[in-house]
Amino acid sequence: AAKVYYENDADSTLLNGKKIAVIGYGSQGHAHSLNLKDSGFDVRVGLREGSKSWAKATEAGLSVKTVAEAAKEADIIMILINDEYQGDVYRESIAPYVEEGNALVFGHGFNIHFGQIKAPKGVDVFMVAPKGPGHLVRRTYQEGKGVPALIAVHQDATGNARALALAWAKGIGGTRGGVLETTFREETETDLFGEQAVLCGGATALVKAGFETLVNAGYQPEIAYFECLHELKLIVDLLYEAGIAGMRYSISDTAQYGDMTRGPRIVTDATKAEMVQILKEIQTGQFAKEWILENKANRPSFNALAAIDQESQLEAVGKQLRGLMSWVKKTDVVEATE
Ligand code: NDP
Ligand code: MG
Ligand code: MG
Repeated sequence: AAKVYYENDADSTLLNGKKIAVIGYGSQGHAHSLNLKDSGFDVRVGLREGSKSWAKATEAGLSVKTVAEAAKEADIIMILINDEYQGDVYRESIAPYVEEGNALVFGHGFNIHFGQIKAPKGVDVFMVAPKGPGHLVRRTYQEGKGVPALIAVHQDATGNARALALAWAKGIGGTRGGVLETTFREETETDLFGEQAVLCGGATALVKAGFETLVNAGYQPEIAYFECLHELKLIVDLLYEAGIAGMRYSISDTAQYGDMTRGPRIVTDATKAEMVQILKEIQTGQFAKEWILENKANRPSFNALAAIDQESQLEAVGKQLRGLMSWVKKTDVVEATE
């Protein structure tokens, strides 16, 4: 079984006296920088001047500088801007200031694994990747808990890279939840596969198909929404707390019988073959290339596909119903999207 590292396995004092730069202040950037600051470390945030993020980070009491200034000062540089912009920003504003003995850190392996960022020799390159969205990384830290994290070492120039990765993971609360060691390749490929086939792509496609089947058969869209989207959270919470058997313990036997006999007719051998195909596209770099080129072309497919879903009946019904559900918390995510 894989070794799991907890609080006592990590020495966060390794970060004492180090100048830390967190580049980016989005979902992950805000969580890493605020958690490290609250853990007592010397954090500065690197951003582009005049941006929304700049105002937010300043308001949160952080020291904010341009990416170049932050990178220049820092011993440890964590790159937490969008994966698709990291290569350009690294070449322009970070690479000129990376010195021997510094560390370059990532929250995801994409740019190192697919060769978009080539770190110089003499520099530590490692990853600390929380296995959850940044807002949860921040929230759980404040509650004295932590989101589990992965660490990986790509280049160990100082002999300290692994210990630094664990120290960082401890500083953001990760060792409270448990830290697993992986490689850049494994993290990158499994992360992309998980979000494409199961967590984001698989889940939204399943919800949409279920909703459309019911609505096309003449049922009320509101009922279809509750059945196919809203209730998913209740089931996922049970899976998260107690696994498949635990979830099945809680549902009726009728539901469990339907689950066991009908589920495999939804995810068929054809679906599994497609999953293998999707994994191959990730492993060969085909997906990475497609996404990098999509960005160079200013995202025509990304924008068109997002607009189609935004205009869907499912989203319209959902927006209206969620507005009526006073118990659904108005989090910062809800505010940003509605
Ligand atoms: P977000 O999209 O939430 O935030 C990106 C941040 O980068 C914003 O603050 C944005 O600022 C800033 N930024 C974008 N372009 C530039 C630029 N050219 N110069 C300076 N700053 C810039 O990113 P995420 O937090 O989602 O992702 C960051 C990294 O973390 C990625 O590697 C991702 O794979 C990884 N990760 C993300 C997870 C998540 O939950 N979201 C989970 C685990 C890992 P502004 O646009 O305001 O200028
Ligand atoms: Mg991901
Ligand atoms: Mg039911």
